[in-house]
Amino acid sequence: MAINSLRSVRSIVSLRKMSTSSAKVLSKPDSTRDINGSKRPEPRESASMMDIGTRRVFSEDHDIFRQTARRFIQEEIVPYHAQWEIDGQCWEKAGHMGLLGIATPEEQGGLGGDFLTSSIVIDELSYANCSGPGWVIHSDIIMPYILHHGTPEQIQKFLPAMTAGKCIGAIAMTEPGAGSDLQSIRTNAKKDGNDYILNGSKVFITNGYMSDLVIVVAVTNPQAKTAAHGISLFLVEEGMKGFIKGKKLKKMGLKAQDTAELFFEDVRLPKSALLGEENKGFYYLMSELPQERLIIGMMAMASCEYMFEETRKYVKERKAFGKTLSKVQVIQHQLAELKTEIAIGRAFIDQCLEIHNTRGLDSSTASMAKYWASDIQNKVADCCVQLHGGWGYMQEYGICRSYTDARVQKIYGGSNEVLKGLIARQIVMD
Ligand SMILES: Cc1cc2nc3c(=O)[nH]c(=O)nc-3n(C[C@H](O)[C@H](O)[C@H](O)COP(=O)(O)OP(=O)(O)OC[C@H]3O[C@@H](n4cnc5c(N)ncnc54)[C@H](O)[C@@H]3O)c2cc1C
Repeated sequence: MAINSLRSVRSIVSLRKMSTSSAKVLSKPDSTRDINGSKRPEPRESASMMDIGTRRVFSEDHDIFRQTARRFIQEEIVPYHAQWEIDGQCWEKAGHMGLLGIATPEEQGGLGGDFLTSSIVIDELSYANCSGPGWVIHSDIIMPYILHHGTPEQIQKFLPAMTAGKCIGAIAMTEPGAGSDLQSIRTNAKKDGNDYILNGSKVFITNGYMSDLVIVVAVTNPQAKTAAHGISLFLVEEGMKGFIKGKKLKKMGLKAQDTAELFFEDVRLPKSALLGEENKGFYYLMSELPQERLIIGMMAMASCEYMFEETRKYVKERKAFGKTLSKVQVIQHQLAELKTEIAIGRAFIDQCLEIHNTRGLDSSTASMAKYWASDIQNKVADCCVQLHGGWGYMQEYGICRSYTDARVQKIYGGSNEVLKGLIARQIVMD
């Protein structure tokens, strides 16, 4: 059924009908080389860095899916970005279009696509400059926890509904007093017969306000030899007594995205709400984090490509001192530097993507991808706003939103400082 939806998406899509053009190759000699039987150009070689039909990691099937995702986002998300985040309508439509749960196997209620296909939705949201829909955290961060650590009953109960967009997922690790230092969380779940009683609070939770299902990280053994040995994960559902959603938080950027506080006051959880084994939660988190970090790197690079194209367009139109800005040598050099850095980033991120698609990325490389790409994203955002002049500071210009959205990428998913510590630990390890 699910893989059929992917296939049916393909069959309903007519490439000829699409308004978006396929990659127009800029430099023939380079782009016609044959790598693994593929003649696909890289983004730096195509007319627009966002062209469809580029990047050797993808196939024509992926291009068709990308066309669908791009059209859906342009028609169904871009015009209603803010409003739909409030009423949540886009979730079920996205589910219907096969844009959720793509990399979850069909037998487990997903669509049975590969991670590359899933990555297309991530790219396309960034290409459309739409940071509102929390689909990525839902499909590629929350669903894998249930898939990898859930019981058959939990999988059956949640994954098909999540793929359909009828059950919105969130993950609650961070607390007011514990972010980077996850081992110092205070939310706890105490045994009471066969049940657990959950108490505590969480903050900055993406999809928190709209969530139907939250994976809550809680201490289950305060006496464990280290805190990491005493942490468990719980599946907490909307409507459970004592589960209270706080206000939506007002943020610098990601304004259409739901980020909330969550409170747990004597929430009685049956044993069936435990995800995986008791006291193994910290290890589950560590095993899933590389994908989350790679995803942030992927969002960063796609956003860089979007910002570059917006800025290229702008400087080719804007006139000052009797000529367009694009004719000014200083500005040409800035564009050359931006494009070079983005092309370098794209090569690394695609290499990580290719590795992750088949065998999973190691924690250190995923940390490099996240920290470096989010740093570059912020550098590109700053430069592109500058090239827009005062108009770049106005909300009616996409680049303004890209700039404020970019900032948090260096903070969440493991702050860049903490990630450098992780990378360094491996470097100096004996
Ligand atoms: C928009 C948004 C969405 C989020 N979504 C979620 C979500 O869905 N679920 C969730 O659980 N959390 C979420 N978070 C929380 C996010 O993961 C944390 O904010 C992040 O881990 C940092 O924790 P903190 O804010 O407590 O900062 P702190 O840990 O207090 O860090 C403050 C500063 O100190 C630095 N620092 C801390 N420790 C070290 C160290 N050892 N070495 C060097 N520097 C250090 C940090 O890099 C940072 O610069 C979200 C946050 C935001 C802003």
